Amino acid sequence: MSSIQNSVQNMNVQNIAATSQIIGSQTTEQAYTGSGSMDPLRPLPRPIDQLHECLAALGLSEADAVIETCLERASKEAPSYAQFLTELLTSELTARQLRQLRMRLRMARLPYQKTLDQFDFAFQPSIEERQIRELSTLRFVHELSNVIFLGPPGVGKTHLCVGLADLAIRSGFSAYFVTAHELIADLSRALREGKLDRRLRQYVTPKVLVIDEMGYLPLDDRGATLFFQLVTARYERGSILLTSNKGYAEWGSVFGDPVIATAILDRLLHHSTTINIRGESYRLKERRRAGLPSTPERSLENQG
Ligand code: ADP
Ligand code: MG
Repeated sequence: MSSIQNSVQNMNVQNIAATSQIIGSQTTEQAYTGSGSMDPLRPLPRPIDQLHECLAALGLSEADAVIETCLERASKEAPSYAQFLTELLTSELTARQLRQLRMRLRMARLPYQKTLDQFDFAFQPSIEERQIRELSTLRFVHELSNVIFLGPPGVGKTHLCVGLADLAIRSGFSAYFVTAHELIADLSRALREGKLDRRLRQYVTPKVLVIDEMGYLPLDDRGATLFFQLVTARYERGSILLTSNKGYAEWGSVFGDPVIATAILDRLLHHSTTINIRGESYRLKERRRAGLPSTPERSLENQG
């Protein structure tokens, strides 16, 4: 600790000790007017400074920032003691919750910020809006169950996952977004470095894990085994939101082995909802609306 910090802390301790002495041996008025038996040379701390010190020492940084405004308003509006304290502590609580929310949003690494309200259900009639509204109650998070979005590219699978993850985060849950490709690459690296268990635990911790684009690239044996380990580790511990352009019947070829594909599906689907989206790519619609030809993207989409 620096000497400045040290002396500041000593000063704080002295002030607090002085305050307790004052309160213990004198009336408050005597203490504030300096008419008691205290060392006359020692400057008396102002109550507001003591208050700032206490709030800072308790880590109530927002209350510390707003206390003077609250006091000023209180002197005009004369709220009850309870109202005053409630106002002060509510501002601390709100600031804290906002800080934690920002932290959870940052840690989730969502690829973009989209909400369910921004989803145009009229454009994608194969999705039952009622079903998405049911998911938005987040019952699936409480029940540790999974949601799997299947469908061709551009139909809104990632958007819906991001919207649900965003809702979960705003409701106080932790979430993490990763593409299947990144996930397997990361777990393979951890395996090579002998840190697989620790890494798996990090993927088990978030209440909602989004695994995007499963099936775009086929997995080798090791990739399939790692994915199986992850699904097993999260089984009945937390929700997985997964997107894939491949129907379940094709998962055998995605994992290169029907046995492991069946074992994965068995755990993944035990408690789950599948949303099958059949329809046109929203990206193509936007291209058309902008007067651009849809051909280049269509050829890309066909690869997906
Ligand atoms: P997918 O994951 O199925 O390939 P995305 O969810 O990434 O598709 O959607 C592609 C883009 O189109 C995103 O910007 C998304 O927000 C938008 N989008 C897709 N479907 C809709 C929709 N029905 N309403 C509004 N935006 C949509
Ligand atoms: Mg996507």
